[in-house]
Amino acid sequence: MKKGIFIVISGPSGVGKGTICDLLLKNKNIDFEYSVSMTTREKRNYEKDGIHYYFTTKEKFINKIKNNEFIEYAIYNNEYYGTLKSEVLKKLNQGKNIISEIDVQGAKNIKNEFDNSLLIYVLPPSMEELKNRLIKRGTETKEEIDKRLKIAIVENENRYFYDYVVVNDKLDIAVKEIEDIIKNKIIDNK
Ligand code: 5GP
Repeated sequence: MKKGIFIVISGPSGVGKGTICDLLLKNKNIDFEYSVSMTTREKRNYEKDGIHYYFTTKEKFINKIKNNEFIEYAIYNNEYYGTLKSEVLKKLNQGKNIISEIDVQGAKNIKNEFDNSLLIYVLPPSMEELKNRLIKRGTETKEEIDKRLKIAIVENENRYFYDYVVVNDKLDIAVKEIEDIIKNKIIDNK
């Protein structure tokens, strides 16, 4: 049996990765499952443990690193984020496709370690618009937003190693574009 495809969605904070993934997952025409990452960052009000992330402490996260429980992990803005082996390996081996939101460092690791990966970078129409979206989201302080925008500049420069770059100007158009990219990859994998 062919292994499933490891689909990675990256892009700067606030670009709309979460919304895009939600909409893609609601589309019953595409056959994939969401990989829930583990993080040490604080939970946002609307987030649910086990659905958006597995929230944990730095101590527990570091223990899991020592126990070799992650496929990849990265430190983003002084917090740990990682993909658990238990969350994806079995599913991929069963031929199931996985979609995950992963930062640029993690995406590079996935590309190196999985032959059957699909890396998509979501770009904002402009940095001004990205800032507006972060302000509108209202989940971070002004200082935190500034830090995330600084990281975004470096992240955007790394978009060239992705298989595809999609601009999220109009949400429905971006979702359709990503949906088509994934569907074509699934057809190729059959
Ligand atoms: P946020 O705090 O906005 O939820 O996420 C910050 C960054 O961490 C985003 O770029 C997000 O895609 C990334 N991220 C989330 N989960 C993982 C993961 O499991 N591994 C890596 N490397 N990055 C992740």
